[in-house]
Amino acid sequence: MEQKIDLLSLSKEEIREVIASMGEPRYRADQVMGWVAKGTPVERMANLPKSFREELGKRAFVTNLRTLSHQRSGDGTEKFLFAFQDGQSAECVLMRYKHGNSVCLSTQIGCRMGCAFCASTKNGLVRSLSPGEILAEVFAVMRESGERVTHIVLMGTGEPLDNMENVLKFIDLVTSPDGLNISARHISLSTSGLVPEIDRLANDKRQITLSVSLHAPNDEKRSMLMPVNRAYPVGVLIEACRRYFAVTGRRISFEYAMIAGVNDGEEDAKELAALLKGMQAHVNLIPLNRVKESPYRPSPRRNVDRFCEILGENGVNVTVRRRLGSDIDAACGQLRANHIPEKRDADYKI
Ligand code: SAH
Repeated sequence: MEQKIDLLSLSKEEIREVIASMGEPRYRADQVMGWVAKGTPVERMANLPKSFREELGKRAFVTNLRTLSHQRSGDGTEKFLFAFQDGQSAECVLMRYKHGNSVCLSTQIGCRMGCAFCASTKNGLVRSLSPGEILAEVFAVMRESGERVTHIVLMGTGEPLDNMENVLKFIDLVTSPDGLNISARHISLSTSGLVPEIDRLANDKRQITLSVSLHAPNDEKRSMLMPVNRAYPVGVLIEACRRYFAVTGRRISFEYAMIAGVNDGEEDAKELAALLKGMQAHVNLIPLNRVKESPYRPSPRRNVDRFCEILGENGVNVTVRRRLGSDIDAACGQLRANHIPEKRDADYKI
């Protein structure tokens, strides 16, 4: 039998084609679209005749995620583990800010980037998520929290630029006025530094914000922490970031996880400031989340403060990220890692 289509992955025009191919009038497509825009499963599309729902259900479905775990932090942050149709799972986090509610979404199950400090990549890549599956994460967070979502960060499990087509289609769906209508300016995408894809994004019309996970100021340290650096070294990456700014005029954020004794020294800060000199950039210092079986430890506060000071003195725009949800396993990939049975263990927070 033919594979069923996920309506959540389809644009308005594509949904129209599916409904037209069933010999149904155009207003039916509009009715279906109204439900898909809310993430409603086919069997619950209440204003459609039962016979049509059954017929549609033979050809299509709307991804609806099952909740495996839901944790609430004292600071209002909520963390979810959701299961997809095939039983694979991925994490999402809801963060409440004054300016709105932001969700952190996964773009892949597992990850193949192999960063040494990250829990998401420990078992490699299982598969990429479809546009509808990424969108289903947003609907599932709204369903579970009862909250509206105004901002999206593609910073959960996975490398978004290793799943670029699906991620771009997800962005089109979630920003569509017929869908959740979230402004592209409220969407951030974080990459470990895939240079050809950064260049593609630079020429893309979508107005999203780009974050680059830098984590070290030179090749020696960055290659040790992030294998992707062997393919796209620091100099090549920074050049791509400069091109990105030249083309888009949009400032890039650099993520920098502070790791004790590895990348948090005064020399590192000076080298980083020199690297970013003259660039419209913003550095986000992230206290490292401790990951089980990883030798890396978070930097002491005084190193973070000193690092921040040196960057500031050298004209680099810098902030230290607030640690939302640190009491609920908020480190990347930890919830899923704990959920994989052979990996289940006591919590390993700071
Ligand atoms: N693959 C993309 C997006 C997912 S990771 C990327 O690399 O940017 C989201 C962010 O969390 C990245 O900046 C990543 O380097 C960071 N991160 C991963 N593990 C971490 C940890 N243990 N502590 C702090 N930050 C971590």
